[in-house]
Amino acid sequence: MMQALTVDPSGMRYRADYLRPLPLPGQALIRLLVGGICTTDLEVVKGYAGFQGVLGHEFAGLVVECEDEQWIGRRVVGGINLGCGRCAVCLSEGPEHCPDRTVLGIIGHEGAFADYLTLPVANLLAVPDELPDEAAVFVEPLAAALRIREQIVVRPSDQVAVVGPGRLGTLIAQVLALSGTQVIVLGRRRESLELIEQLGLAADLVDGPVDRSFDLVVEATGNEAGLAHSLRLLRPQGTLVLKSTFAGRATVDLSRIVVDEIRIVGSRCGPFAPALRLLGSGAIRVQEMIEGQYRLQDGADAFEHASRPGVRKILLRP
Ligand SMILES: [Zn+2]
Ligand SMILES: [Zn+2]
Repeated sequence: MMQALTVDPSGMRYRADYLRPLPLPGQALIRLLVGGICTTDLEVVKGYAGFQGVLGHEFAGLVVECEDEQWIGRRVVGGINLGCGRCAVCLSEGPEHCPDRTVLGIIGHEGAFADYLTLPVANLLAVPDELPDEAAVFVEPLAAALRIREQIVVRPSDQVAVVGPGRLGTLIAQVLALSGTQVIVLGRRRESLELIEQLGLAADLVDGPVDRSFDLVVEATGNEAGLAHSLRLLRPQGTLVLKSTFAGRATVDLSRIVVDEIRIVGSRCGPFAPALRLLGSGAIRVQEMIEGQYRLQDGADAFEHASRPGVRKILLRP
């Protein structure tokens, strides 16, 4: 038996008596060291993806059982998509777009907010000794931010805006600023921009900058108003990256997209190894983003805290 934070149609629950997962062949059993709550988890609790079971996909853990003994005792992070491993998508690009995939704590695979979780060994990456657990746990959202740089060319001379100064927006802005690119983070409230400025990035209220002045706008709010702001800011032939999953449906001015030939790019999961390297080198700052740490048994408080507006990262420990 183990502790776990689970979700079912009645909502989120702390369970002290949840069945410990059994690793399948090729999988490792991992003991949770620290987990991170992200907006996707809040959506899952609200019913997104209709998931039931253990919540959570952002984690750093310790391998306790594995056929391949070299992993035992190692600190790891892990890719959250579990592909079938046989289809054309899995064999060419990897599991992220496998039609039969499961996703840790989101689709069909028990998540990380428990004493133990399982993942295929192929998904694991060892955490360098000098990188603390509470930095390593940022690898998944940082990889998601890096995904943008795999999809589009961001020129050092581009004017870039990130709409939404939240947890993901803060990582995206840091990632896009790495090549000297001028990046501004836009939010609706002054207080929400404090951390951004503390990290040395430019910030402004969303209605501050001039319309149609940006080459690239990243939408990281997940709400309709944020999407409207993002479109307004783009120059003709600019690129809009949609980085947060919209829980509902959004109304968009499609004629603006056609007339101004706006390019829209959806963006989801990204590469873990470069994200770990950036965390290790200190090029991306995450310590400042941690706002609170809770025990699993106080999961309800942790989720309540994580859902307050403008809140930074909330971590969970067993
Ligand atoms: Zn996440
Ligand atoms: Zn597949």
